[in-house]
Amino acid sequence: MATVQLVKVNKVYDGGVHAVHDFSIDIKDKEFIVFVGPSGCGKSTTLRMIAGLEEISYGDFLIDGKIMNSAAPKDRDIAMVFQSYALYPQMTVYNNMAYALKLRKVPKEEIDARVKEAARILKLTPYLDRKPRALSGGQRQRVALGRSIVRRPKVFLMDEPLSNLDAKLRVAMRSEIVRIHEEVGATTIYVTHDQIEAMTMASRIVVMKDGFIQQIGEPNEVYQNPANMFVAGFIGTPAMNFLHGTVMNGYFVIDGSGEKIKLTSEQKELLKNYETKRLVYGIRPENLIYEGSERFAKFKDCSFTLKAGMVELLGDIVNVHGETGNDKAILKMSSKYSVKDKTEIRVAIDCEHARFFNETTTKAITPDYCEYEEVEVTKSLDEDNVTIIEQKPQGLISKAVGAVKGLINKKKKPDADAATEDTAQPDENETE
Ligand code: ADP
Repeated sequence: MATVQLVKVNKVYDGGVHAVHDFSIDIKDKEFIVFVGPSGCGKSTTLRMIAGLEEISYGDFLIDGKIMNSAAPKDRDIAMVFQSYALYPQMTVYNNMAYALKLRKVPKEEIDARVKEAARILKLTPYLDRKPRALSGGQRQRVALGRSIVRRPKVFLMDEPLSNLDAKLRVAMRSEIVRIHEEVGATTIYVTHDQIEAMTMASRIVVMKDGFIQQIGEPNEVYQNPANMFVAGFIGTPAMNFLHGTVMNGYFVIDGSGEKIKLTSEQKELLKNYETKRLVYGIRPENLIYEGSERFAKFKDCSFTLKAGMVELLGDIVNVHGETGNDKAILKMSSKYSVKDKTEIRVAIDCEHARFFNETTTKAITPDYCEYEEVEVTKSLDEDNVTIIEQKPQGLISKAVGAVKGLINKKKKPDADAATEDTAQPDENETE
């Protein structure tokens, strides 16, 4: 049983890099939480603060309601699994898993019971006498997991544990880890930059960017109702299409082409403060309908012309990359349809799935956020057409507060060597 809470946790590295800003989450017992975001967004830093490998600059970290900011890594009852397998090459699978328990002077029979139980869960029983070199990549990664499982920690932390595996094995291990989590039932925090991993494994996803949480939610919720354009562009492949334009008399008018997309009565109500104002119409590629489909007629009032460009054939589906007005757009459809030799096609929008975003704040327009707002920003578009808003210089005050707090606490800097055994790379020369 373990709940984990982070309350406005911040990390300011020496030298002033503010890597994590006000990170707050309540993690329930047995949850499988995935931190996801592009490289450098602060996922590993947050995980390492939880493990005790990195000092928390300010904010609180609690396990089962108890503040653990100053607890040494070994006293946190946390196990961490890394992308490198960190197995002892000279030891058998059995001894690799037993090692941490031997160090803790756990009685022999207890060690035997725990290792055999972990081997059963991990389907490693036939391999207990083998050395790591005689195992496949997936089996080795399962042994690495086994080393953590036998310790029965309150919390599992996993930092990109599958990124060393080939694509096919990664897919297999994804479902293995989910199954193992269900069986072991420990609270788990998993870090990845791979949004498909996040979508398929998490009970809840935390999407991060530039050290800030963008959204916390169940995978389906994050996919269906992204909080902003960054989340909409990051979760889902291909990314959500963003059409820029203006709301006029019940229509959304696309920039550049002037084509009109009819708004439903619900949409008109949601966007009533946006009349004559600009906004971004978001629609996922799979919610666009090709003119050849029988569903097209139903959504004809929400259709536009797509100048077709590159066509990606992916077996059962086809992605048609194109342009409409000033925006790029992708249509994802069944490969039973063909756009061969066509330079222009009509595409309808399954408008029930449309999402709307404020163009300047990039936030999703929802019943709770539907007042028109315009902020001055320096913005640019990245290669996926996602608006990048330049953050104002953050945290001069918060950095100063952090520095002062750091001085007051004068905590002993966590010692990586004192962390869980799974964090230390085994010595190649070590013998059993
Ligand atoms: P992620 O895991 O999402 O790729 P990290 O947590 O590793 O991101 O890094 C977040 C930010 O903190 C990055 O800008 C990175 O350069 C910076 N950073 C990481 N470690 C240090 C460090 N030891 N000193 C200074 N900056 C660091």
